[in-house]
Amino acid sequence: MAIPDHLTLEIVTPDRSIAHGKVDEVVVPGAEGSFGVLPGHTPLLSTLTVGEIEYRRGDERSYVAVSFGFAEVLPDRVTILAQIAEASDEIDVTRAEAAVKRARERLERPVAEMDYERARLSLLKSLVRLQVATRRGRH
Ligand code: ATP
Repeated sequence: MAIPDHLTLEIVTPDRSIAHGKVDEVVVPGAEGSFGVLPGHTPLLSTLTVGEIEYRRGDERSYVAVSFGFAEVLPDRVTILAQIAEASDEIDVTRAEAAVKRARERLERPVAEMDYERARLSLLKSLVRLQVATRRGRH
């Protein structure tokens, strides 16, 4: 079979579409590590962790913060069903900084194991948001 010349990328959350279109490459934060996808990739299904999706169209790179979900990879298509996701230009930096502060305070004084895990995930999500926000306008 001929190798397709691009990938059709779709990133959706339960309430909206974040990205849809033709791209040349996608890097996905899989639960077992980030992996890159080029056209012609072997089909696979992966769960997602908290991390950054990067996709490239020509020389233009775009970034999305994601928290959990699934990725389906086909030779000519990548579909990401994210529980929560924000494109880099949608991220409210002040909100993410406040969430980092809150989570750090909780981690310093955990009252239960559950709180600790929630605070740990909240810290991770907010740090990823801050990282993705720094990508704005950088291609
Ligand atoms: P916060 O404590 O600030 O509410 P959170 O990590 O608890 O953050 P989530 O449960 O991950 O928030 O997300 C709830 C909704 O808010 C989602 O739609 C998510 O995309 C959005 N969201 C959360 N933080 C930000 C942010 N810093 N900028 C833009 N959207 C955000």
